[in-house]
Amino acid sequence: MFLLHRHPLKGGKVHDLDTEKDDLLSMGEKAMFIEHPTDPANRPKLNQVSKWDLPWAGITKLPYTITGPYLKTLFDKVFIDGLHNPMQRPNAEEWEIALLKTTDLMQKYHNVSCEQKWYVFDNTNTPRCPFCNTAHKGTLPVLDLYYQFQETTWKPENHRLMVYNDQYLFQWHVNRNIARNEKLTAAQKVPVGYFTFFNDKWVFVNQKLTSLKDVTEDKEIPIGTMLELTDGKKILLSKEEGGRVIVVTMANK
Ligand SMILES: [Zn+2]
Repeated sequence: MFLLHRHPLKGGKVHDLDTEKDDLLSMGEKAMFIEHPTDPANRPKLNQVSKWDLPWAGITKLPYTITGPYLKTLFDKVFIDGLHNPMQRPNAEEWEIALLKTTDLMQKYHNVSCEQKWYVFDNTNTPRCPFCNTAHKGTLPVLDLYYQFQETTWKPENHRLMVYNDQYLFQWHVNRNIARNEKLTAAQKVPVGYFTFFNDKWVFVNQKLTSLKDVTEDKEIPIGTMLELTDGKKILLSKEEGGRVIVVTMANK
């Protein structure tokens, strides 16, 4: 309800004419996700929905998948696979990780008439805001995080960071031994650098990284200098144990 302003189980299906019994069944024994992918029985009936519940009641225009790939997976587990089987539901930690990764996928949107201004990147090459349906303008750097699995093998973390003007990079992106949680020290909450659109180029300005390296151009990037983000570029964020590599993809070219 916090994410999508609608109840995931209160849809159009009536189980009993007695409201109290109906409520018990639809929240319990007969519970069904309103957005079940193959069984449409409990879809909200838009002609019965109050105008105050729109646009959020419109699951066709704003399906739960707009919450992005990490949360979509958990929605499936909790409201489809595990709805009648609590053991299959994700735990609190999985939700925490998915929510945090999702904030890194959020894209700022500069359409003044858009009522949301932010949306979760949909992993497509030509992203579009689901709320105002406007296509993104300009190139969009997408950064994929990798960790060192063996001396010469880097593996994807299934973690992406979207770049926009004044987006920050933090220690928890740089080093996989640092987790973004309540145990962070005050120093770890300070950004290590930021991204900006400068002279028609996307750049990263290094403020705190002592061993930042542009691997593609084989060049160290000292503090106080910047590097340009280009398609396919590999950047080593830290030489320390746990230090990550990011690979740049330019979307919406
Ligand atoms: Zn929009």
